[in-house]
Amino acid sequence: MTVPAGLPPTLAGTGELFQLLRDGSPRTRAELAQLSSLARSTVTARVDALLASGLLAPVGEAASTGGRPPTRFALNRDDRVVLAIDLGASHASVAVTDLAGRILQQKTIDSDIADGPEAVLELVTTIGLELLKEIGRPIRDVAGVGIGVPGPVEHATGRPANPPIMPGWHDFDIPAELGKTFKGPVLVDNDVNLMALGEFVTSWQSSQHLLLIKVATGIGAGVIADGRLMRGALGSAGDLGHVQVAGAPDDIVCRCGNVGCLEAIAAGPAIAAKLRAKGLDIDGSQGIVDAVAAGDIAALQAVREAGRDIGTVLATCVNLLNPSVIVVGGKLSEAGEYLLAGVREVVYGRSLPLATHDLRIVSTTAGSRAGILGASAMVIDAVLAPRAVDDYVAQQTA
Ligand SMILES: [Zn+2]
Repeated sequence: MTVPAGLPPTLAGTGELFQLLRDGSPRTRAELAQLSSLARSTVTARVDALLASGLLAPVGEAASTGGRPPTRFALNRDDRVVLAIDLGASHASVAVTDLAGRILQQKTIDSDIADGPEAVLELVTTIGLELLKEIGRPIRDVAGVGIGVPGPVEHATGRPANPPIMPGWHDFDIPAELGKTFKGPVLVDNDVNLMALGEFVTSWQSSQHLLLIKVATGIGAGVIADGRLMRGALGSAGDLGHVQVAGAPDDIVCRCGNVGCLEAIAAGPAIAAKLRAKGLDIDGSQGIVDAVAAGDIAALQAVREAGRDIGTVLATCVNLLNPSVIVVGGKLSEAGEYLLAGVREVVYGRSLPLATHDLRIVSTTAGSRAGILGASAMVIDAVLAPRAVDDYVAQQTA
């Protein structure tokens, strides 16, 4: 292991030890020595360095076996904050979270992604600075920035790659732009990937294998396998909206130019078009959700049918990936059980028995906050990784 400049060789591995405290549970030096198989003196030196850096804080005392009770330590989630941004086609959500991913302050506004990167990023930067001011944290407390965008992203560089609904954003250097204001890593990902991560860290950490499908104006998916987000070779994994559905009408052309795409027959605009053809006055996903809530039979049927079409594609995914949970999110998931019922009907009927044995198909729990929670989790993973912690401790204790 390379030792960061400034961190004495005896303290190499401090970030590694810190990983035992990532879950937020308080532990004593003795417990840490036992868990890490390190000498007590080594643990003491590393804990002292982490305490000095501020990343660790004492949190009361363990039960004493006689004599002075041993001190327990835990992650100091207030040491720094994370700026989390979720950009949609027509909205921008900005939040400040602590190092445990809890939202401290949040603001969501209408914002058109088609206004282009300079205007949109300037707007979210301004909001971010306002939120920091509202909670009394200086800009230097920002450990990093996570941002989700509604299109494919080359994750390694943070640059959108030919995003269909984001004119002007192709190849734009988002990290460089936000890095002008905020220090620390600026990590960019597709919004659906971050929704999957947000659901995973808030509700399904015990599952390890999660598939999130977002059904709204478009359809996309995020894949968590073995507890990790799977982005694919170039970051476009999970783009389920343009999978061809068997038996789909061949006269509906998708915005991608193909026919029979899942998105062209089962996303919000397609369902709304079907309902308008039946004489209903419905525009967009919210209109569909409202019609379902009002008990409109045609709307219920159309949503359930969309669920079946989505289920056809998901059944293939289930056979391929064997997830333990499928989370259905996005605006249309607010149509409740009708969408889920259609999905379940086909997935349980068409996937292999072993693949569906323990499979749960559920609605989102994080809801509209899934994206910012995922953006925050992505940054926390980066800034609390062993090497990043070593660097931080070296810098803080220099
Ligand atoms: Zn398509």
